[in-house]
Amino acid sequence: DGKTHIINIHASALVDETGERMGALLILNDVTRMRQLETMRKDFAANVSHELKTPLTSIQGFTETLLAEPSLLDNAHVVRCLEIIANNTKRLTTIIDDLLKLSEIEHADRQKDFNFQEAPLADVINSAAAICRPDLDSKQIKLESDCPADLALPIDPFLLELALVNLVENAVKYSPNNSEVGISAEDKGREVHVSVIDHGTGIAEAHIPRIFERFYRVDKARSRELGGTGLGLAIVKHVAQIHGGRIEVQSTPGKGSAFTLIFPRPM
Ligand code: ADP
Repeated sequence: DGKTHIINIHASALVDETGERMGALLILNDVTRMRQLETMRKDFAANVSHELKTPLTSIQGFTETLLAEPSLLDNAHVVRCLEIIANNTKRLTTIIDDLLKLSEIEHADRQKDFNFQEAPLADVINSAAAICRPDLDSKQIKLESDCPADLALPIDPFLLELALVNLVENAVKYSPNNSEVGISAEDKGREVHVSVIDHGTGIAEAHIPRIFERFYRVDKARSRELGGTGLGLAIVKHVAQIHGGRIEVQSTPGKGSAFTLIFPRPM
């Protein structure tokens, strides 16, 4: 048809029961459409990022400019409206960023797009803790981490850090001031467990099967107020799956929660 096609070719010999060659089998698979769809999906994520974030950045910039305009500062109503615009712009930016992260992770090619390497878990835990430090400090929450110094695993360190940051940020969001959050990594032989433990609100059993769904929140209004997007745990679940692992939750309402990432050990 005059267009370039991508063809997968599979060739094999045809032999009878005595082993004598009777011919050859050639299978041609036109995968052009499949590849096109894959590329479109990836391009879409990149385009969404650009198309939505560029105007948002502009709205944010101009709102901030107006909020710094001395002649407007006397008008409390105008200032209040501008603050609401600024807060919602920030919120939309967070949602778009989380959606993009999720879409990137979902559509990435495990072989090409991730950076798997034998990495010490203690380093990843420390870097995630450093990212969460301002949130922890703002609620005077103490972070205790416990990880054997020599425990290493083939992981994508950036992805694991992303998952841990999401879990620790949740732990902080749903915990009272002055409480404690723990991160622990344990070598269980055929598996490695990495847990984030809090002493916060906990989650009623009925909600647990659904909290990993995108946009599912036990209390939408509360989550929104706390700056949640409802996408954090969906991201965490994908990160576990990319590593061939899973995530488990134990929680008691009023007592706290433990989220455990379980990674299989390569044999
Ligand atoms: P959000 O951005 O709303 O925190 P998540 O996907 O990270 O979204 O979590 C989904 C929901 O699971 C939250 O809205 C909250 O109801 C519940 N949740 C997650 N982590 C915790 C936790 N550590 N303690 C209590 N509830 C939690």
